[in-house]
Amino acid sequence: MTEIQRRPFIAGNWKLNKTQAEAFAFCEALKHKAGEFDYCDLLVAPTFTSLAIAREALKKSAVALAAQNCYAKDDGAYTGEVSAALLLDAGCSHVIVGHSERRQLFFERDEDVRTKFWAARRHRLVPILCVGETLQEREAGDASKVVLRQLAAVLSECPESLEVNDVVIAYEPVWAIGTGKTASPEDAEQMHAEIRTALEKHLGKTLCFGIRVLYGGSVKPDNATQLLSKPNIDGALIGGASLDLDSFLAIARASAPCS
Ligand code: PEP
Repeated sequence: MTEIQRRPFIAGNWKLNKTQAEAFAFCEALKHKAGEFDYCDLLVAPTFTSLAIAREALKKSAVALAAQNCYAKDDGAYTGEVSAALLLDAGCSHVIVGHSERRQLFFERDEDVRTKFWAARRHRLVPILCVGETLQEREAGDASKVVLRQLAAVLSECPESLEVNDVVIAYEPVWAIGTGKTASPEDAEQMHAEIRTALEKHLGKTLCFGIRVLYGGSVKPDNATQLLSKPNIDGALIGGASLDLDSFLAIARASAPCS
């Protein structure tokens, strides 16, 4: 496969952590350091309640803001849900869809992820589509089958034509999330290459070479360089290690050319 340069993308998923005051302090400090990172894209995904304050703190910086989830409907009688339209209104540019915690703990099916993904696109948000196999699926030899099924569920029928930066994929093996276990750089690279081949099938050659495919699953400052040096790993979706600014930035530094 032709090698092309994709700009690294370093994203922090805060999950259910940080008060508004903590989110503001983190984002203010991040904004002051962000100028150092002209070689990569940075993004944070706070809780819904901290989106507005994070947006305020990140004003006039290049750091992008994501929500961790959205609902597929735009408005109506859906108590407790937040639509892609409202996320755009709150200042988000991106939204995470299909995170394994949503799939496992909140029983989201491929079909739910598909509708959320395209709701995000309807509002010109960039979905960060998470895919990944459980330990049981990997041990049964089904890792690729599961990941490619999750991708196909969303991308096999595209209601709009996509540009390279309209979508980000995150490969997150479920057994590596929050466990301290990481896929070996070689295993991760192999899955990323398979994902890229599937992207070619669904979206065509031009898009498949340009779309960024992130790795997620216990990425830390001490394993980031090895993972990010692989040709098909274009960045990281980071949970635990993104909560501390120094470790988040240490991972971002590992994405520098020739780091
Ligand atoms: C995640 O939440 O997407 C994630 C990868 O978490 P962690 O880095 O803590 O494994």
